[in-house]
Amino acid sequence: MEHPAMPADPAAIASYHAHIYFDAATRPAAERLRGWIGARFAVQLGRWHEKTVGPHAAPMYQVAFDKALFAEFVLWLMLNRLGLTVFVHPNTDDPWADHLVHALWLGAVLPLSAEGLPRSLAARGEAPAPVVPNTAPGG
Ligand code: ZN
Repeated sequence: MEHPAMPADPAAIASYHAHIYFDAATRPAAERLRGWIGARFAVQLGRWHEKTVGPHAAPMYQVAFDKALFAEFVLWLMLNRLGLTVFVHPNTDDPWADHLVHALWLGAVLPLSAEGLPRSLAARGEAPAPVVPNTAPGG
């Protein structure tokens, strides 16, 4: 891979996703973690994907969160992922790079499919989806 002449600007990051992977054996842990997250963080909890979807090679649910929450939430996940694999990626104009180049993994590294990941949302008249928190931390 060719390296750019200049470093990328983190201002390009609109938000983040954490994808929590599970299987039949680890689903109870994924349920517990989901409850913990919802009780503590103002994030957008996505629905359960019991079958593989998009670039993801295993069942998971998505947690969308704002940049301002990154340090607090990702550090918390490091300590509390209950052995689950967590895939954290930025959301910029380039979903291909977000998933395949700039992501980080907590736990095992799972395969991802590059199929269907565009190199520019703007070129398609799109933009990263805004985060709409649907949790009630402290509630
Ligand atoms: Zn994602």
